[in-house]
Amino acid sequence: MRYSGWKVIKEALTGHRGWGPAWRDATPQAQYDYVIIGGGGHGLATAYYLAKQFKQSRIAVVEKGWIGGGNVGRNTTIIRSNYLLDGNEPFYEFSLKLWEGLEQELNYNAMVSQRGILNLIHSDAQRDAFTRRGNAMILNGADAELLSTQQILDRYPFLNVNDARFPIKGGLAQHRGGTVRHDAVAWGYARGADQCGVDIIQNCEVTGFRIENGTVKGVETSRGFIGAKKVAACVAGSSSRLMEKAGMRLPIESHVLQAFVSEGLKPVLPGVITFGAGHFYCSQSDKGGLVFGGDIDGYNSYAQRGNLPVVEDVAEGGMAIFPMLGRARLLRMWGGIMDMSMDGSPIIDRTHVDGLYFNGGWCYGGFKATPASGYAYAHLLATDRPHETATAYRFDRFAKGRMIDEKGMGNQPNLH
Ligand SMILES: Cc1cc2nc3c(=O)[nH]c(=O)nc-3n(C[C@H](O)[C@H](O)[C@H](O)COP(=O)(O)OP(=O)(O)OC[C@H]3O[C@@H](n4cnc5c(N)ncnc54)[C@H](O)[C@@H]3O)c2cc1C
Repeated sequence: MRYSGWKVIKEALTGHRGWGPAWRDATPQAQYDYVIIGGGGHGLATAYYLAKQFKQSRIAVVEKGWIGGGNVGRNTTIIRSNYLLDGNEPFYEFSLKLWEGLEQELNYNAMVSQRGILNLIHSDAQRDAFTRRGNAMILNGADAELLSTQQILDRYPFLNVNDARFPIKGGLAQHRGGTVRHDAVAWGYARGADQCGVDIIQNCEVTGFRIENGTVKGVETSRGFIGAKKVAACVAGSSSRLMEKAGMRLPIESHVLQAFVSEGLKPVLPGVITFGAGHFYCSQSDKGGLVFGGDIDGYNSYAQRGNLPVVEDVAEGGMAIFPMLGRARLLRMWGGIMDMSMDGSPIIDRTHVDGLYFNGGWCYGGFKATPASGYAYAHLLATDRPHETATAYRFDRFAKGRMIDEKGMGNQPNLH
């Protein structure tokens, strides 16, 4: 079924009886060419591009819960490609270009909104760093603009640029950045993959790998054994727990990241803003809620809920930049498990087991990567070669000292 404005009008006039399920509820087959573990954004995007772009078939996505229940439906919806390093910037810019055509590609309204992202500058040293980053973005074909305080005030007149605790001295803007409705991305890719013949199997947890003579033969699941020629792990915050079953210890720690939504307000925030003197970022959803977040919880956890000290820290960051936030009531908050890698950058690579592949280490920035991650992972699965924008995302960079340390924090995931 194709979605269109005419279809909405027709259904509105005929009692909404013509809508079908967006994807089939598939039962597991005994054998597939590809089994993708994890029905988050990345797993579903991988299945979609593998079938659509790389013309592969006999593909299953195996999800332990429900589609959209993981980080893809828990993030703060921000997309951007404002990275500094060569290993990252071309990949994230590729992703942003895929976002720009995604709704037409999937025939699905994912509410892609290029409302712009603004990183505020509070010191001269920060201006130098952001200028360098803006130049790196432009050199890689992305857009970037250094804004003066007056230009910032023209767009965000409520900001206190002069006598706040952290005066604002300018900002780095990426006008093509913005927000996308997160769970619509999971649903859109699931529907697109299903239309290409992919089996999406929910409530099916992978409990182990069957590996014979160094080659993967399939996965043990809560619904029985599923055979596969290639198995692609893509489980974000559960990466270390899953890969442990294949005898792998990953350069990844899991930490909780929390998100917050205020009650609905009239339009007040036209774009995405990040505070440069603390960790706080905020946008306003189309329903009116201010959507914001900050640091990860500083210790390791697999619990999908966070703790109060970080809530306090995020609230303090918010109040420092938007004192008006103190008058809005908090409506909802939740947590998701982040797969924090040792240099803050992801891994899309083969493993030491033939036929077993790994995608993870997205830290708290993997939502914006969803289309490119799916595309690059599908490329690796179909051709056994990395996609040109993802050649640096290898396991052996940690052994060879070729870290992609965007923040210069070293191997301290809680600081990335
Ligand atoms: C609060 C918060 C805010 C964020 N904000 C942003 C942001 O603004 N911008 C941005 O770019 N990124 C953001 N992120 C990060 C982003 O959401 C993640 O990096 C990204 O969604 C991870 O990829 P995914 O969608 O595939 O993960 P998930 O949706 O978590 O998918 C993994 C899936 O694997 C399944 N799974 C796990 N173990 C098994 C198993 N054994 N068998 C079968 N299935 C299994 C899980 O149930 C899950 O559905 C944020 C994350 C959080 C939590």
